[in-house]
Amino acid sequence: MSAEPVDVPIVGFRRWGVRRGELYSGIFVSGRFVPTPALTMVAPRVRPQPWPVGEARLAKCFALRGHEAPYSDCNCGLSAYYDLDEEPDQPAPDCVWGAIVAWGLVVECETGFRAQFARPIALLDAYNRHDFAHPGRRAAAAAEAYGIPVLARDDLIAYAGWHGELHEAA
Ligand SMILES: [Zn+2]
Repeated sequence: MSAEPVDVPIVGFRRWGVRRGELYSGIFVSGRFVPTPALTMVAPRVRPQPWPVGEARLAKCFALRGHEAPYSDCNCGLSAYYDLDEEPDQPAPDCVWGAIVAWGLVVECETGFRAQFARPIALLDAYNRHDFAHPGRRAAAAAEAYGIPVLARDDLIAYAGWHGELHEAA
């Protein structure tokens, strides 16, 4: 499906890695940045850049031959899932999940979308079994930095619905 402008903002759910209160599209393993799988395929050595605070993030393609992001035949764009798992996977201690609102050009996929503009609206209050040293602290630090709440799963989904269109279950 090609990138189409959306009429109204849409919301989705995604994972970040948190470092010093900033949200990254990837996780840090032993201090080394590991971008999300989609990003790794396009640009394995991309320099980590935090999501901006207080403003939207503009999608950028990191492929060698760049183009306006998102592009249908690429993996670029600010991605999110339509649905939030009951217990979303958190493969590292710095993982947090949350909701974004997205707009502009959007490529819709089966389980989620890739958008041109997005910003985080809330983070998920979830137990991360890898984060035994600082339970809940990373989400709280990022939430404070971005001025967004940390919410339980059902509240997060409801809150997201106030900010944009939730995907209708088929
Ligand atoms: Zn691309």
